[in-house]
Amino acid sequence: MLARRRVLTALPALALAACAAPTASLSSGAKGPGPAPAHGAAEAPGPTGPARPPLPALEQIEGRFAGRVPAMWGLAVPGVVTRCSVASVALTFDACGGPGGAGYDSRLIAALRKYRVPATLFLNSRWIAANPGAAAELAADPLFELADHGTAHRPLSVTGRAAYGIPGTSSVAAVYQEILSNRAHLEGLTRAPGPWYRPGTAYYDDVAADVVRAVGLVPVNFSVNGDGGATFSPAQVATEVGRARAGDIVISHMNHPGAGTARGYEAALPRLIGMGISFTTLSRAGLPWE
Ligand SMILES: [Zn+2]
Repeated sequence: MLARRRVLTALPALALAACAAPTASLSSGAKGPGPAPAHGAAEAPGPTGPARPPLPALEQIEGRFAGRVPAMWGLAVPGVVTRCSVASVALTFDACGGPGGAGYDSRLIAALRKYRVPATLFLNSRWIAANPGAAAELAADPLFELADHGTAHRPLSVTGRAAYGIPGTSSVAAVYQEILSNRAHLEGLTRAPGPWYRPGTAYYDDVAADVVRAVGLVPVNFSVNGDGGATFSPAQVATEVGRARAGDIVISHMNHPGAGTARGYEAALPRLIGMGISFTTLSRAGLPWE
């Protein structure tokens, strides 16, 4: 992949119009997805935005964060976005790769396409390497937005802290590498991947979450756990996803084709659509380039 690597560029300052960290107020009246068709899809390809400033060099980031000691660890440390104050639901699907599962749940993707439901897909480098054809196909589909799920699927830590037995990154330099090596792969797939990052296991410390922002991306988690790490039955998935309402960010997985996720979504999506719920990608919810 190195031959395809482009010069990395940072994103502009992100004016998060609608997506919010848990400590931020969720003001009403934020822009929704607009008068979209039935389910919020059929929109133009993703935003392109103005020229991006250069990516901060590793040395700059290391200098800026030297001596910072993490004080928090978890799924929703300060600065991590877990909801959007919009009238739609943002579905997100992780593709972890490696021992976390390198399969491709084409049935799940078919359900999203059937109902014209947009989603943000968090791809890990290992999953992309195992599924180059599917990755290219998803990148070319304007229904979907690609985002960064890390390179080695590590919990994002500056001290090596582990989650679920998976050791975290162990330094600011390792965090930088974990985020940006995969970013280069995403930029090889699509001109404008979303400015979103979710680490392997979804765990961060507060310093690592700040590093994500320092390189121009936004750390994202969720407010609804749709498939329990691809362990839920179809009925459980349908129940949990069916709880989603305006502003929720739902996490599920697209790398376990044998799990209950696809069948759960097949049941939940028509019900939610029937209730008038609409869907959005994170970029259309957050309007980060506007
Ligand atoms: Zn994952």
